[in-house]
Order: sequence, then C-alpha cells, then structure tokens
Amino acid sequence: MADSPVIEREKCDGCGLCIDVCHCNILVLVDNVITVIEEKKCVSCNRWCAQCEMICPTGAITIPFDVVIEER
Ligand code: SF4
Ligand code: SF4
Repeated sequence: MADSPVIEREKCDGCGLCIDVCHCNILVLVDNVITVIEEKKCVSCNRWCAQCEMICPTGAITIPFDVVIEER
C-alpha cells in the first residue's frame, strides 16, 4: 500500500479545500496543484482519515485503501 493519498494532477484545480481539512498539514499547493510534502506522515498522524478525499470536488485526491476479505 502507498503511504499517502494518490494525486491526479490533471484533475486538481488548486481550490485548497483539502489543505484546510488535513490536520497533519502535509498538503500544499505547488504551481497550483496539490502536493503531499510528507508522505509517511499521512498514516502515522491520522491513519488516512480521508478528509481530503471526501472534500475534494474534482476527485483529484484519493486514499489507496486495500480491501481485505476475511474468511470466517
Ligand atoms: S488522508 Fe487525512 S491526514 Fe492524509 S493527507 Fe488526507 S486529510 Fe491529510
Ligand atoms: S480539494 Fe481537490 S481540487 Fe482542491 S486543491 Fe485539493 S486535490 Fe486539488
């Protein structure tokens, strides 16, 4: 699994909404495109809280969850 959200640069319009909701302060705008500045901090700080993914109006940022199916 990746350590941080996946950014689709072409979808990001630079609105900055995800920056406002990230309590770990690891998202910044570089050339008006969102960038993750400390990839490993996403999981260590907030365990992929997914606030950024939920608030993004363009679907530019997603959390790479693994789906694990357990047999019982
Ligand atoms: S998942 Fe949470 S901690 Fe990680 S970048 Fe998004 S808002 Fe920040
Ligand atoms: S909320 Fe989405 S479109 Fe806005 S800056 Fe973040 S990734 Fe880009």
